[in-house]
Amino acid sequence: MSLRIAISEGDGIGQEVIPEAKKILEYFLPDADFFEVELGLGKWEKTGCACSSEDIRDLKESDAILFGAVTTPPDPDYKSVLLQIRHELDLYANLRPIKSYGVDMMIVRENTEGLYSGIEEIGEERSTTLRVVTKAGSKRIAEKACSLVLERNPGRPLVIGYKGNVLKSDLLFRDTCMEVAGSYGIKTKSVFIDALCLDVLQHPKNYDVIVTTNMFGDILSDVCGYLTGGLGMLPSANIGENHAFFEPVHGSAPDIACRGIANPVAAIRSAGMMLEYFGMRSEGNILEEAIQSVIRSGVCTPDLGGSASTNGFGSRVFEVISKR
Ligand code: ATP
Repeated sequence: MSLRIAISEGDGIGQEVIPEAKKILEYFLPDADFFEVELGLGKWEKTGCACSSEDIRDLKESDAILFGAVTTPPDPDYKSVLLQIRHELDLYANLRPIKSYGVDMMIVRENTEGLYSGIEEIGEERSTTLRVVTKAGSKRIAEKACSLVLERNPGRPLVIGYKGNVLKSDLLFRDTCMEVAGSYGIKTKSVFIDALCLDVLQHPKNYDVIVTTNMFGDILSDVCGYLTGGLGMLPSANIGENHAFFEPVHGSAPDIACRGIANPVAAIRSAGMMLEYFGMRSEGNILEEAIQSVIRSGVCTPDLGGSASTNGFGSRVFEVISKR
């Protein structure tokens, strides 16, 4: 049976970068069945619902999902689409590779609990958000991180980003990660997340796989965007036992939307992560080499100092791949 791939462009620049990534998936997966799922603020404004139970059903029926970005308004009645999807599809592992000029690290972010648990009480005088760390949740993300250490560089330590001196819930996270790593024979190094945010920038080559909790992973990967030329470069994969969801790290960037200048590299690299997820590692490498050769040739979007449009850059990458 052919692969079923859900495409959801979402809002803002999601609608500009995803078509470039989709073209490349269609090229490498000519027999796949692609179908659209509309999600996000635009849909909420039209229908009063940003992600319905039918949408979740459609996403669950796919073999993989390519997603752009959605705008989340600061409206207490608006439920975050991403949180909803991560919970419903139980996409517990968020993998964020950081690659550039000799730097090659992987941030493994727990994706379903921590400070993004979604358990909140909003009041006039006091609002709270519950930070949830469970043994089971920590164990499965630690196992994912350890399997990546073994696949990438078994000799390198697994770095655990945490803040256990202030947040006691993080001691459960750290200790569980250490226990799991010990059972795999992997060394660990525990680093306070604030110090880690500085040290990854000062000594990025010292890092290989970093595992951390939900919000810390979100912040750390944006920090690492600095190493790669900005948010427009960073892809991610959200993986669960039964579902896989690929998206650029950046959001919908309303400030630059509708101008055709968004950098599509993060979206195209997310498509590359999908190819690797399907076992197509050599196609993933071909795609990455094509992206790098186009950038080296001086063709890039304004965020990287160039003047190419989103479509102009995407078309160059497509041309390099298809003329091979
Ligand atoms: P979110 O809360 O969903 O992360 P945000 O608006 O806080 O969204 P982003 O949308 O990720 O943050 O973008 C932050 C800024 O980075 C944007 O305003 C934009 O200027 C820049 N940016 C993000 N993605 C890209 C891209 N693909 N190409 C060029 N610039 C980008």
